[in-house]
Amino acid sequence: MNDLSPSRGFTTAVLHSDRAAPIEHGALHKPLHLSVAYGYRSARDLAAVFQGRAQGYAYGRQGNPTATALEDKITRMEDGVATVCFSTGMAAIGAIMIALLRAGDHIVSSTFLFGNTYSMFATLATQGIEVSFVDATDARAVEAALTPATRLVFVETIANPRTQIADLARISELCTARRLIYVVDNTMTSPYLFRPKSVQASLVVNALTKYIGGHGNALGGSITDTGAFDWTGFPNLYASYKAANPKLWGITQLRKKGLRDWGGTLAAEQAHHLAVGAETLALRMERACANAMALAEFLAAQSRVRAVYYPGLPGHPQHALARKLFSGFGALLAFELDPALDCFDFLDRLQNVVLSSNLGDNRTLAIPVAHTIYWEMGPERRASMGIADSLIRVSVGIEDRKDLIADFTQALA
Ligand SMILES: *Cc1c(COP(=O)(O)O)cnc(C)c1O
Repeated sequence: MNDLSPSRGFTTAVLHSDRAAPIEHGALHKPLHLSVAYGYRSARDLAAVFQGRAQGYAYGRQGNPTATALEDKITRMEDGVATVCFSTGMAAIGAIMIALLRAGDHIVSSTFLFGNTYSMFATLATQGIEVSFVDATDARAVEAALTPATRLVFVETIANPRTQIADLARISELCTARRLIYVVDNTMTSPYLFRPKSVQASLVVNALTKYIGGHGNALGGSITDTGAFDWTGFPNLYASYKAANPKLWGITQLRKKGLRDWGGTLAAEQAHHLAVGAETLALRMERACANAMALAEFLAAQSRVRAVYYPGLPGHPQHALARKLFSGFGALLAFELDPALDCFDFLDRLQNVVLSSNLGDNRTLAIPVAHTIYWEMGPERRASMGIADSLIRVSVGIEDRKDLIADFTQALA
């Protein structure tokens, strides 16, 4: 952690976070540390690092200085206590489940969930952890699913692709009252639009691959402990991780059991790319959100578009909630074409839009959801999630707005 003033603005703090600790040769970027092993002159120093009594690195799987610099940046962005980075967003989510749950535990999550997260939770359900999927836009549905075995509630801020927004503050009240770990996947909003700490989330997940990295050139994930959860009452912690400061008990177990033992380590090069991307998060988000709003309004006015899903539109079911909680409506939207239009032909006509499954890139990306990322789950589950065959998801980028609107105009014509 560094000593720069916490009153600095978001981008200033991110830009200057590396300099708070002295960097080799005055380099403005944290250098890439590619060493797997770290040598010590004294055996006592080596033992102190292993026993957690001294800061330091033992073996590259447990972290490296380049990744630590990124962890500090994310802790600052989320206004948290500490962060652990991983090789992907999925590795971060998996680490939470592996490190903090035991057979017989129960978790509650949302029906509207990133597809691979849903698939992972379904796997957990075959391995002794009970999982309930409920409509998390309604806190009463979450409450009804809680049991005495519930340990954790996992929700996303804005769900992909239909942009449903979880009832984040009310779910928090349920978790606080029952001392449950409240995990919020903040990927779709990013800490620039929303800090889950503001609704007392315990742990924040970010798929760094998406908006924080922003350039589609590096994978990464992170878990940040906000400091809101009282780990002293949590039954699944190992005695060896209960060091002096209880605020660090959870993140220590996540680093040991979740990162060290499962090995989803963020490599130094990836950490560097993600840290460079993070510098412009605020600028990119402002632009991409403004573009998304303009495109959503444009599409909503087209007779050949049957429905548009974007939290910035006043007709969106959680528009008021988004306005209250977030400082922007995000850069992802989805829409249904008139069934008379072939969605494949429509997509093929787009010229400034890339047909791709990623999101959070600087480039605008579009994908026919039912035929690609939601194909494996089959028609029944798609229907239960409100995913029509003609649904197109657009991750809006930072292109010039007039070019984007012109492209959609000609593709619809
Ligand atoms: C992409 C994504 C993930 C997974 O991140 P990866 O880096 O691709 O593993 C998790 N949650 C959400 C909401 C995502 O969009």
